[in-house]
Amino acid sequence: MAQIYDTIILGGGPAGLSAGLYASRSKMKTLLIERGKFGGQTATTDELENYPGSAPDCTGPQLVERMRKQAEEFGTEFLKDEVLEVELEGKIKKIICKKGTYEAKTIIIATGAYPRLSGFKNETELRGKGVSYCATCDADFFTELDVAVIGGGDSAIDEAIYLTKFADSVTIIHRREGFRAAKTSLEKAQKNPKIKFILDTVVEEAKGDEILEGLVLRNVKTNEVTDLTVDGCFVFVGYLPISELFKGKIKLNDRGDIITDEEMRCDIEGVFAAGDIREKTLRQVVTATADGAIAATTAEKYVEANFED
Ligand code: NAP
Repeated sequence: MAQIYDTIILGGGPAGLSAGLYASRSKMKTLLIERGKFGGQTATTDELENYPGSAPDCTGPQLVERMRKQAEEFGTEFLKDEVLEVELEGKIKKIICKKGTYEAKTIIIATGAYPRLSGFKNETELRGKGVSYCATCDADFFTELDVAVIGGGDSAIDEAIYLTKFADSVTIIHRREGFRAAKTSLEKAQKNPKIKFILDTVVEEAKGDEILEGLVLRNVKTNEVTDLTVDGCFVFVGYLPISELFKGKIKLNDRGDIITDEEMRCDIEGVFAAGDIREKTLRQVVTATADGAIAATTAEKYVEANFED
């Protein structure tokens, strides 16, 4: 008979890895399923200045690899597979993947979020041909070239600063004057001689057939249209939850974030959510790992209360 896990964690970013650590440390039989690279968005982040205790030279990939090893040392099993379907209603939950079906008493959903498109003409056509959503992955291609960054949040500002290590110039294009990004990072970017700002402006179109040649910009106050010649365009306009699999099964908000209580419980018994997939106000590595720890602890209590050995 196939084994039944105490918990199956979906997603191997900081929330999932932290849930793995806490679940396996409390002797729960734990499986973590990840379809891509472990580490989620943190695996594509260079500097992590605001994760308490992280060393200045510790990169995102190094931090998440340490988290993964730590969870593994305590017994978390890892599986690379893609989840196709979930059956969450019964007392025993079923996770149907490409390579097999897995069963558990509890499920912790930590599938995270994916980059939102900005919506300008030719954005999809030129993706990977000058338009990018990951500075850590692609910055090197733009060494000594000129790039634009779209957005005014933490991702845009942090990644623009990172891009100055490679590019000759980085132009941040933001649709208004105010920024969501942390003031410290914004000030750092404003002082960086390689960074220029174009505010109250949106990108209307990316020019180029086979490769990005430039952007068409529109000032939202004056409606003036201008061209900007750039070799690369990095889009950081927020993220959307990876929750397609759970639509109609779990309570989601209008954006598709999973709604939980403070103990990370979803509206189905035995199902929990953690990290960026969850409706919350502060999306950070530190809040993702905290969510994972809480979800695993609540799941453990649920197993104790609802199952005999
Ligand atoms: P975000 O905070 O949602 O910011 C998205 C930015 O893109 C906003 O400035 C928004 O403009 C702009 N925008 C949205 N749609 C747009 C469109 N269609 N065209 C042009 N601009 C558009 O997203 P994020 O920066 O990716 O951050 C996501 C979460 O992760 C946040 O909670 C953030 O704090 C966190 N994060 C933290 C760190 C860190 O702590 N170092 C690093 C990265 C991310 P408006 O402001 O006008 O809405």
